[in-house]
Amino acid sequence: MKDSWIREEFEMNMIFLGLPGAGKGTQAKKVSSKYNIPHIATGDIFRNAIKNETPLGKKAKSFIDQGELVPDEVTIGIVRNRLKEDDCKDGFILDGFPRTINQAEALKDIMEELNTKLDLALFIKVPEKELIKRLSGRRVCEDCGATYHVEFNPPEKEGICDKCGGNLIQRSDDTEDTVKNRIEVNKEKTEKLIEFYDNEGILQTIESSGGIEEVFKKVTSVVEENR
Ligand code: ADP
Ligand code: AMP
Repeated sequence: MKDSWIREEFEMNMIFLGLPGAGKGTQAKKVSSKYNIPHIATGDIFRNAIKNETPLGKKAKSFIDQGELVPDEVTIGIVRNRLKEDDCKDGFILDGFPRTINQAEALKDIMEELNTKLDLALFIKVPEKELIKRLSGRRVCEDCGATYHVEFNPPEKEGICDKCGGNLIQRSDDTEDTVKNRIEVNKEKTEKLIEFYDNEGILQTIESSGGIEEVFKKVTSVVEENR
């Protein structure tokens, strides 16, 4: 149970919605560090599992490589376990989950089990042409996971992470064919999720035109208005 009457701390449960490349991870990392709440990205969980060759990684790999969704029965269990961890009790940002209505319904049940609720569903809206530019130029640090863009957010030294000195690589699913498939796979599902959270009364939309800092200002103002 939240005890906001005792502590005047930030407590907010949010999800970031948007097509692949919209900037969910970029903004979620910044919000996470500003408000000190965990950033939970299902894509990161799967990529770590693949890197460590765990049973989960083995299950998820073929779906991710093709740009398809990992089946709900795998994904929902992972999120349920993660949200039960102690660091989520004062809020969290879910990035990349839910991606289907089935996942959204499951998340609602998980919130009930935890005696809490979602406070905000933030949809980051970006034109499709821009998504392809963002995804094809994305580079990520293979050590710390920091995200860059060759043109829009380049590192100080080409190929090297500013934060930890690790190597920057291109995600294996950021190739042209997989990118197009990921956008197609997610388009209709994202529209349904927007409708779902609009009906729940917690949907807010921001247009992600402008650079990362400009979008961050819009994101923080929505967060502040809804806390
Ligand atoms: P998502 O998590 O939604 O798939 P990312 O946050 O990884 O998207 O962003 C995709 C790419 O676009 C990254 O290379 C990132 O640096 C870049 N990017 C994110 N936000 C912006 C923005 N507002 N303007 C330009 N490039 C951006
Ligand atoms: P992302 O890092 O969010 O772009 O996700 C990368 C890939 O992980 C997706 O293309 C899917 O294959 C898989 N994935 C991430 N989140 C989910 C989810 N909520 N449901 C199903 N698959 C997911």
